[in-house]
Amino acid sequence: MPELPEVETVRRGLEPVMDGARFTKVEVHRGDLRWPLPKDFARRLQGKSVTGLGRRAKYLLVDLSSGDVLIMHLGMSGSFHVFRKTGDKALGRYYHERAQHAAHDHVVFHMSSGAIVTFNDPRRFGSMKIVPRSKLDVEPLVARLGPEPLGNAFDAATLAAACKGKKTSLKAALLDQRIVAGLGNIYVCEALHRAKLSPKRLAATIATKDGKPNERAERLVDAIRVVLNDAIKAGGSSLRDHKRPDGEIGLFQHHFRVYDREGQKCVTPGCRGTVKRIVQNGRSTFYCPACQK
Ligand SMILES: [Zn+2]
Repeated sequence: MPELPEVETVRRGLEPVMDGARFTKVEVHRGDLRWPLPKDFARRLQGKSVTGLGRRAKYLLVDLSSGDVLIMHLGMSGSFHVFRKTGDKALGRYYHERAQHAAHDHVVFHMSSGAIVTFNDPRRFGSMKIVPRSKLDVEPLVARLGPEPLGNAFDAATLAAACKGKKTSLKAALLDQRIVAGLGNIYVCEALHRAKLSPKRLAATIATKDGKPNERAERLVDAIRVVLNDAIKAGGSSLRDHKRPDGEIGLFQHHFRVYDREGQKCVTPGCRGTVKRIVQNGRSTFYCPACQK
């Protein structure tokens, strides 16, 4: 499932062709995504301009000139692709002409920039929803999300306060979107390895009894930021379905230190450990028992 760096990569790919452009036509080929698209979906977009393209955790937020926000989630297998209209060379070499309607292209946006943006999703766990911008604060999808890990509101103090007294594992705490938003299995494993913290450690142990951050919390916050920034720079990780909207693949999977590396040598300098896989809360965790304490 795409995590924050993959969604941010998609956002950056869509921004140049969508931001400031108008939806000239919206095609809905299949409206039964994770939940049904509203009946007036195309009507609420057509003729409206995009005034901003943001991201909150794993959600893309498209601000519209109507005052609405289009909220989009990639689900398990969703992807966006950008094509240019026949004969329009303005969008650069990455944008292929769209030969025909592809299977699983459920939603197609025709933009006044000349771009055609398709949303393709074989498994249909992705979703799109339109809400008034003024109601975004109470929108259930985003209202309870914790701080953005790359934003100013996220630091060792907020993370420690959120983990104070928590008897769950550190891994489970970091996957909890109310504690920090946008992390998934891959980047939690990678961040814990860089911070040299065991995924099995109790979440409470990164805070003092009164909820102040200790040195582990500082290390963890730094590691989360470094991993996410490095992954965004690499265009995300291309496992299974993730591709950038221009069709290029993200390359961060080549920089994994523990994820999917069971049985391989730990890459921490001076460590002689071997990467191990365990199952926590039904999901694989990869870590090095030798240097992650
Ligand atoms: Zn190690």
